[in-house]
Amino acid sequence: MASISSSQDVIIVGSGVIGLTTACTLQRRLPNVRSITVVASEFPSPSPMIADSPRYSQALPISADYASMWAGAHYRPIPHLPASHPRYGSLTSQQQGFQSQLANEYCLATHTARIMKHLARATPEAGIEIMPGIEYLETPPPENIALKSGDVYAGDDDHFRVYTSAEMEALNKRDAHDGTGQIKWACEYETYVVNVHIYCAWLLQQFLQGGGKTAQKHLNSIGEALQAVPEAACPIIVNCSGTGLWDDPKIKVIRGQTVLVRNQYHSTITRQCADGTWSFLIPRPLGGGTIVGGTKQVSDSETCGRPKERQTLLENAVKYFPDFVSAPKDFDVVQDNVGRRPWREGGMRIEMDELKQDGVKLPVVHAYGAGGRGYELSWGAAEQVCELVGRYSRLQSRL
Ligand SMILES: Cc1cc2nc3c(=O)[nH]c(=O)nc-3n(C[C@H](O)[C@H](O)[C@H](O)COP(=O)(O)OP(=O)(O)OC[C@H]3O[C@@H](n4cnc5c(N)ncnc54)[C@H](O)[C@@H]3O)c2cc1C
Repeated sequence: MASISSSQDVIIVGSGVIGLTTACTLQRRLPNVRSITVVASEFPSPSPMIADSPRYSQALPISADYASMWAGAHYRPIPHLPASHPRYGSLTSQQQGFQSQLANEYCLATHTARIMKHLARATPEAGIEIMPGIEYLETPPPENIALKSGDVYAGDDDHFRVYTSAEMEALNKRDAHDGTGQIKWACEYETYVVNVHIYCAWLLQQFLQGGGKTAQKHLNSIGEALQAVPEAACPIIVNCSGTGLWDDPKIKVIRGQTVLVRNQYHSTITRQCADGTWSFLIPRPLGGGTIVGGTKQVSDSETCGRPKERQTLLENAVKYFPDFVSAPKDFDVVQDNVGRRPWREGGMRIEMDELKQDGVKLPVVHAYGAGGRGYELSWGAAEQVCELVGRYSRLQSRL
């Protein structure tokens, strides 16, 4: 178990899925910490599915930059080429760097999947559900083509299965009349989906019940977190602010527009089209409807839903997933969702750093830049943060 001095306080900046998961992990793994406070400008909000209730109408509107409230969210693995693969040597150094990022994320994602599936079984009220994941790819990369049924794809016991050519032919025949592209690779596996409003509120509740504290404050810099917790002694700051609140040129935001509908689908299904567009359905557990998605628009700052994009998303969902509804008008639309993914070139930044403030050096552990994968990396990332906090504390105690 990691340890920390009992005279030390931890301040976590950010109440998204990364900040809250980190808060719960630190609380469990560092029981002797003096206090843990989560400081953030925004905290989990209720689902728009309960828009008629006073609880919803009294809630503050959520900004597009609070990505955790706009995620689907599902776990969709991204296969990588291991360094031992014969093709690895012929990749450029940039391509190898990307493959090693994916390999690192694979470890975080499979660790997270184990915990998410355990929570789905043990605490269904947390808003996680285990369900089939289905993928249709029109231009599959070699990493996918190399996979065989029975391989580990999403984690232990994922029942991974690649579709046979006959199954894909039947799907392509079904789609032919729509002028749809051809599916060249398809698979099915066991995954999980998350009702983001219920889950983040549940994480926050776990943290508060464990004695955690919160402070709502907009910060202009990470150092300002100290003003929100003036009583903090020897604080360690954990930066889970999404885009970092740090001068980091590798950060970009990626806009995502989706549609929340009341209709409930049975699986999470994704189609990656040859033209680079995506179509997906992500059911939200506990009657949270379904997310029909979605766009990925780099550095697009529009925070309102574009009606034309909504129409395209709904039409594509009808075309690609014909067993859901038979026409766009059959969708019972709740609202357009627009969120901005905090994407970082090279992957999430999880590392120890220092902040110099008023001549004093303060330890900061960064955990930001999860892009489109914050839920699926969350428990793995939190574990790494915990190791860094514990390691820092051990070094301090030896000085
Ligand atoms: C449309 C869409 C679909 C997605 N689908 C999925 C999916 O299916 N699966 C998946 O794993 N991920 C998905 N994501 C990505 C996921 O939402 C993000 O990776 C994740 O939410 C990032 O979490 P975070 O805690 O790092 O940041 P955020 O959720 O953005 O939280 C940041 C926190 O920091 C606080 N903060 C920021 N700046 C300040 C400041 N100046 N002062 C005080 N507080 C501050 C905010 O108030 C907030 O509490 C999706 C995202 C979008 C937009």
